[in-house]
Amino acid sequence: MLESTGTEIESSGRLGAILGVSVPETHRQMYAEAKQFADEVLIPAADLHDREESFPESQVNALAEKGFLGILAPEQYGGMGLDNLALTLALEEINRGCASTGVTLSVHNSLLSSPLLHFGTEEQKERFFPGLASGKSLGAYAITEPDHGSDALSIETTCRKEGDEWILNGTKAWITNGSRAGTIITFATMDPALRSKGINAFVVDPSMPGFSVGKKELKLGIRGSDTVQLVFDEMRVPAANLLGEEGQGFKIAMHTLDGGRVGIATQAVGIAQACLDAAVEFAEGHEMFGRRLADNQLVSHKIADMATRIEASRLLTLRAAMLKDAGAPHSRQASMAKLSASEIANDAARMALEIHGGAGIGRQSPIERLFRDAKICEIYEGTSQIQRLVIARHVRPDRS
Ligand SMILES: Cc1cc2nc3c(=O)[nH]c(=O)nc-3n(C[C@H](O)[C@H](O)[C@H](O)COP(=O)(O)OP(=O)(O)OC[C@H]3O[C@@H](n4cnc5c(N)ncnc54)[C@H](O)[C@@H]3O)c2cc1C
Repeated sequence: MLESTGTEIESSGRLGAILGVSVPETHRQMYAEAKQFADEVLIPAADLHDREESFPESQVNALAEKGFLGILAPEQYGGMGLDNLALTLALEEINRGCASTGVTLSVHNSLLSSPLLHFGTEEQKERFFPGLASGKSLGAYAITEPDHGSDALSIETTCRKEGDEWILNGTKAWITNGSRAGTIITFATMDPALRSKGINAFVVDPSMPGFSVGKKELKLGIRGSDTVQLVFDEMRVPAANLLGEEGQGFKIAMHTLDGGRVGIATQAVGIAQACLDAAVEFAEGHEMFGRRLADNQLVSHKIADMATRIEASRLLTLRAAMLKDAGAPHSRQASMAKLSASEIANDAARMALEIHGGAGIGRQSPIERLFRDAKICEIYEGTSQIQRLVIARHVRPDRS
């Protein structure tokens, strides 16, 4: 998508982050629409959904109508047929407005549509994409279990084949969109002794016998997002719902998470930008000791540090998205983007809170919510420790 067919980009502002690349008009429009939606709809409602722990349903529906749930879905199935660069540009803005809405869309696009696109058969694409692209069916991705998060190879959910069906048993934990999803990619092992070669990926839906939604998780942040346990009790899944080949599930899971990490890096950049915006507005609007808070060197240095690290993380994130679009290896770059962006999101939240003083602790400012929302970026889709392990594995003289 990065051929120079679009108009020239600005040398400043968010799109300016990818200086040297011409951004197609479709991407510019999507970015502008997301930005407007964030300012006019998401930001005014974000605190309410956080406080009430309520799912931002009308916002997600409005974004579905705009086509944002079908960014990666092929046009022939009602999607926009765009790429990860478009998704990244749109999702940064959506996350700047509301991280709960952001993660809902990120999981749907990056963790459901993306693997379906890469590993699904034509029949599966024809069956699932129309619902996903229109937003009628929300997507979820379920690999984590109560006792297995980082160590995904050790999952205990089992699958056994009986005729034309697979029978799944087990519990998945912390599943975003879990109670609202109409389409779920999940993972189960044929035999734990086979380790990675024993894991299968399935596309399942809540109407399958033996499926139920377990407890709702109560959370520190992104409280408007839907996070639940899923229970598979002799759940019967048609053989036609196996994603990829038998034994390919772990590969699918890891490939998907590389893209998902770009999504979480994007979320973190959006949260960090919201923190910076709030900090600048506060520092410029408040006077003390006879001058604007922003004119204090210690404050302006914090703002400079935030702005620089956010821009660096944005570049890493856009680069990872562009590599994925080019079909190039992007595991290291996705991990670097997620690590860097999630750390600046948390540091920016802390610095912005400090600049606000007591007002940053109070619920009248968005900083208190952003401070809580930022934390999850360092945990899901691979903790910062796991990102460091992935990066270090690639930093060898013989590796790119
Ligand atoms: C709000 C929320 C939403 C989520 N959404 C989803 C979802 O949609 N789908 C899904 O499948 N999962 C989801 N998750 C799960 C998430 O991906 C896991 O929480 C994450 O992978 C960490 O796993 P864990 O919580 O089991 O922690 P653990 O794996 O038990 O890790 C505990 C600690 O040990 C550290 N650690 C682990 N291994 C190493 C190591 N080798 N070296 C050094 N330190 C290590 C970790 O970094 C961490 O600090 C979600 C989680 C949350 C909180």
